[in-house]
Amino acid sequence: MPVLRLAIPSPLRRLFDYLPPRGMSDAEVASMQPGMRLSVPFGPRQVTGYLVAVCSDSELPAATLKHVDAIIDSQPLIPPSLLQLCEWAARYYHHPPGEVFNAAFPRLLREGKAHQSIGLPGWRLTTHGKGLPAGALARSPRQAQALALLQGADAISNRQFKDAGISPGVLRELQAKGLAQKCTLDSPSSDASSRPALELNPEQASVLSALLKTTEGFSCTLLEGVTGSGKTEVYLQLIADCLQRGKQALVLIPEIGLTPQTLDRFGQRFEANIVVLHSGLGEAERYRSWEAARDGSAHIVIGTRSAVFTPLRTPGLIIVDEEHDGSYKQQDGFRYSARDVAVKRGQLECCPVLLGSATPSLESLHNAVAGRYRHHHLRQRAGAASLPAISTIDVRRQELQAGLSPALIEAIDLRLKSRQQVLLFLNRRGYAPTLQCHDCGWVAECRACDARLTVHRKLARLRCHHCGASESMPRHCPQCHGNRLISTGLGTEQTEGFLRRRFGQWPIFRVDSDTMQARDAMRELVTEINRGEPGILLGTQMLTKGHHFPAVSLVAVIDADALLFSADFRGEERMAQLLTQVAGRAGRVGLPGEVIIQSHYPDHPALQAMVSVNYGDQARALLANRRATGMPPAGQLLILRTDCADSATGEKFLQTVRDQARAALPPDIQLIGPLPSPMQRRAGKFRCQLIMLARERRSARQAAAILVARAEATPARRGLKWSVDVDPLDLY
Ligand code: ADP
Ligand code: ZN
Ligand code: ZN
Repeated sequence: MPVLRLAIPSPLRRLFDYLPPRGMSDAEVASMQPGMRLSVPFGPRQVTGYLVAVCSDSELPAATLKHVDAIIDSQPLIPPSLLQLCEWAARYYHHPPGEVFNAAFPRLLREGKAHQSIGLPGWRLTTHGKGLPAGALARSPRQAQALALLQGADAISNRQFKDAGISPGVLRELQAKGLAQKCTLDSPSSDASSRPALELNPEQASVLSALLKTTEGFSCTLLEGVTGSGKTEVYLQLIADCLQRGKQALVLIPEIGLTPQTLDRFGQRFEANIVVLHSGLGEAERYRSWEAARDGSAHIVIGTRSAVFTPLRTPGLIIVDEEHDGSYKQQDGFRYSARDVAVKRGQLECCPVLLGSATPSLESLHNAVAGRYRHHHLRQRAGAASLPAISTIDVRRQELQAGLSPALIEAIDLRLKSRQQVLLFLNRRGYAPTLQCHDCGWVAECRACDARLTVHRKLARLRCHHCGASESMPRHCPQCHGNRLISTGLGTEQTEGFLRRRFGQWPIFRVDSDTMQARDAMRELVTEINRGEPGILLGTQMLTKGHHFPAVSLVAVIDADALLFSADFRGEERMAQLLTQVAGRAGRVGLPGEVIIQSHYPDHPALQAMVSVNYGDQARALLANRRATGMPPAGQLLILRTDCADSATGEKFLQTVRDQARAALPPDIQLIGPLPSPMQRRAGKFRCQLIMLARERRSARQAAAILVARAEATPARRGLKWSVDVDPLDLY
């Protein structure tokens, strides 16, 4: 008897067998295709599952199998290549296949709603309406005009009526007379075209011509181009070629809300249907974008991380912009790297993948150096701009005001008076990172995390930046009842206050997740800044994400020390990327740019490297280091984490997994732990981790499978949650 094998969203890392719906013939069953959605009973619930295979029999006795209730789709909604991608991702990341499939469908379809192709809302004549003679309704000219339009076509879209100056009220009158009815028109799949491009400089031109030679079949290319070197222009021209060949382009970017300019540039360049996919969309909007990508009417799909799972009818090119960006890695639930999935997807779709960055990840550099990726460089800034000069200010023994040294204050003053813009980078939001009692030394800590609370003075609250907890600011020390509570350390809110007092005649913009909550906040800010009036931008790393601020000529890093002493193995790489990206905001057009880095450790090798070496050379040195230590990308990492209400249970669970897996693991596998996570308690849960480090990819995969199988077989106490993180970004 044929059996249907399904992926079902659940915490279980396996597929589930079902019997075909009652009354279905064998021929009908045999014609079912993987990817179709089915409605099935699962425990007490009715859920949507995805068909993965039709098998001739099950390992389980047929009597124990349940029947599928209903087949939702008559055709699979996603192409075989995407199905394979999901299967690959479920295996590679050891994540439950049903949840991985969920990533490829918008919520409405995950919930089992029938698929509807989207179209344009419009109107058509009823039978009665069709019977009217031409020139009817002469007493009502508007209605007559609407009728004439409807008589000339099968259906007319709302937009066409609007363009013709006919209001919805007129159509409702026709509807009331039984002459017209609402309908949906097929969405037009028009041809795309592009508007004139910039003339490329010689470096850009040679990169583009190389890229145009590899538009067929899979290849992966790393485009390493300094900030402002015109990578985006190269993408645009490559996409123009892709559209001309009648194919779709998928463009991944780190965060859409933060980069309105990128979207605008695409919109201005192409006469094409560009759809956007990101977490800020409503479900209906998301569905429309997804469907347009799927049915091929969207020419360009621009999206964040999860858009890498969007079905495409005619994929021709995948671009991952700012490929080093940490936001491509999902940090909870299905922990995947959208960049790595994009490369795999290119392989399965047989189309080229382009990874671009001014500060490539060591992973991508490693692949480029090893010859797995093609590698192109843009070493100069496009147009007239040159790279900024970088210097450090030694702040030891200096009188600092809200973190700023006298020399920096003067430099800011000078730029403002020359009617230029200044960008100040401080990677801590809030007023101050610590509230302390001056009498007894008490420090305000989060009740749920091993972390200090941040002072937010304007709100008069203390907030935890790890779990979001918030409490009102105490008046007295809870320990000694003294009233001398002091804020120590520096956050953007405090520096903003100082800047307003010192540079009050100029506009000051604070940019962090506290001030950029509103949906269009970033777009409005960018518009304001790009009017080019003198002023100060003060913000966190939000400011570094690929923005283009033409009038910024001075960039200053207020506190580089906060970046210098990270315990994580990627600490230096991150710092070099961050500083290079911040510095890259300076002098992007014409004006000579200057970058100032304040530190108590101006001789620290990492800062010296920033001043004297470019990112590329720094990164290559770091890569040599990783090879020596066997850390990624030279070696492979995996972390098993637990999350539990007490501290001992998780550790014991991981200990059991470790002891039982040990003998079966390949010899090059190193296990570290179990140990408490560096921040052991977070949001009230104790966290513990077991780290696996492998020399070889193959043994890493083998060991991962063994460890995950062991963890699945180990009974977990109630309340204990465990998760796998393949290729983790950090060891936290
Ligand atoms: P990147 O993506 O590498 O940061 P962009 O593509 O944003 O660089 O280009 C930086 C600036 O240089 C933009 O203002 C862009 O319009 C301009 N630009 C890019 N290419 C050219 C070119 N060939 N000629 C003139 N200006 C260019
Ligand atoms: Zn006290
Ligand atoms: Zn907390």
